[in-house]
Amino acid sequence: MRYKYCPECGIKLIDRQAGDDGLVPYCNECQKYWFDTFASCVIVMVVNEFQEIAMLHQSYISDEFETFVAGFMTPGETAEQAAVREVKEELGLEVEHLEYAGTHWFAKREQLMHAFIGYVKKRNFVLSTEVNGANWVTFEEAPKRMFPDRPGNTQHILYRQYTVHINGK
Ligand SMILES: [Zn+2]
Repeated sequence: MRYKYCPECGIKLIDRQAGDDGLVPYCNECQKYWFDTFASCVIVMVVNEFQEIAMLHQSYISDEFETFVAGFMTPGETAEQAAVREVKEELGLEVEHLEYAGTHWFAKREQLMHAFIGYVKKRNFVLSTEVNGANWVTFEEAPKRMFPDRPGNTQHILYRQYTVHINGK
């Protein structure tokens, strides 16, 4: 998001040269630059010891496709902590091992997605109210339920990374 008005005093910002960063919105009143902001989020593909993947149904996102665990990072939290917290909140499961899968820009929502594979023990889910349903789905079945594989889709990036492990065994 690019600021147009000062979040502190409310006046219209002007573009001002900020060193190497080029023109940046600036408040003459507060004498402060307001750099573009975006949300940092985590997305976690949760897998169990039987190579099954947790697929979530969240009707506020889609009734057609199923999601992975995802959520906003909160200030003071690392991406790793957010990933573990979101898996606990949404599915009621404890992550035993977290594997990093890079960061990915989700242009549609201006979000930087920090991607992880979260390894858990197979348990029944304890769902949050954000989740309408969840299922353990086989490795082969999961892609059929995921969002289409388009640029910016982090589900398939995670799935491909996990595939390398499966095939390597
Ligand atoms: Zn201001």
